[in-house]
Amino acid sequence: MKIDIVSVFPEYFEVLNLSLLGKAQAKGLVTVQAHNLRDWTHDVHHSVDDTPVGGGAGMVMKPEVWSECLDDLLGLAPATIAADAVDCAAEHACGTCDGEASISTDDTTAEVPDGTAADSPRPVLIFPNPSAPLFTQQDATELSHADHLLFGCGRYEGYDARIPQYYRAQGVDVREYSIGDYVLNGGEVAVSVMLEAITRLMPGFMGNPASIVEESYTGGNALLEHRQYTKPAEWRGLKVPDVLLSGDHGKVDRFRRDEALSKTDELRPDLIEALDCTQLDKADRKT
Ligand code: SAM
Repeated sequence: MKIDIVSVFPEYFEVLNLSLLGKAQAKGLVTVQAHNLRDWTHDVHHSVDDTPVGGGAGMVMKPEVWSECLDDLLGLAPATIAADAVDCAAEHACGTCDGEASISTDDTTAEVPDGTAADSPRPVLIFPNPSAPLFTQQDATELSHADHLLFGCGRYEGYDARIPQYYRAQGVDVREYSIGDYVLNGGEVAVSVMLEAITRLMPGFMGNPASIVEESYTGGNALLEHRQYTKPAEWRGLKVPDVLLSGDHGKVDRFRRDEALSKTDELRPDLIEALDCTQLDKADRKT
């Protein structure tokens, strides 16, 4: 998998060279390249932001800088956009369109500057955004099969809303995700969270692939994982449940499944309510 990240703080992603993701890069399973958005600026201050149209506090990331960068990394030729189409996209009020900009490019098979042919699979373009749908294990699973992901990290008050709109109109698979109901200073942490969740699901990433099969939120299971214990069997007066020491695999499996059900019911009843009866066996229904 190829991963490109665009940020005004590309150094932030040096930590991705550590731990399992670092090993996956060393093995050639994944390549990660962090780009500095300011490399696509032309002014002396390398500005990437401007004041919000309509007034208000803070600064908004400029679409022109992002589009030069993303056109390059996506292998798209710069667009030829009719001025009225841009107005429509911005205002949604021309009365002659449905709010989607009608945008065309001269040549969608252009060369990417690093020499990559643009006819290779186009990346999925992902923007972290606190007001987007929540990023889930299901999204991570789906994206773990992608060939190429391109992340754009927002900063300040965020990025101009026309950026994802424009690339969707170009046929790019654009996703916006929140990692939770709180506001971070920038998208870098959110991208790191998503990347870790995605890459660990790639075939060959984990030393023992079984360790990602029975995890919380995973597959048809969608429960929280049962509680885990290691040795010693008794620690500071606290014992591990006897059944886990019994050597009876059937009983251990049943105990863990009951544990997962009761723990999920206690901590995340919404996940229990979302289960349908095909996800429950007869013994579950007694639990
Ligand atoms: N003004 C925005 C708002 O109130 O929704 C917040 C902008 S935030 C300070 C700057 C950037 O951080 C966002 O554009 C986004 O890329 C990232 N970000 C902040 N919180 C996030 C979250 N919970 N999930 C994903 N990305 C987040």
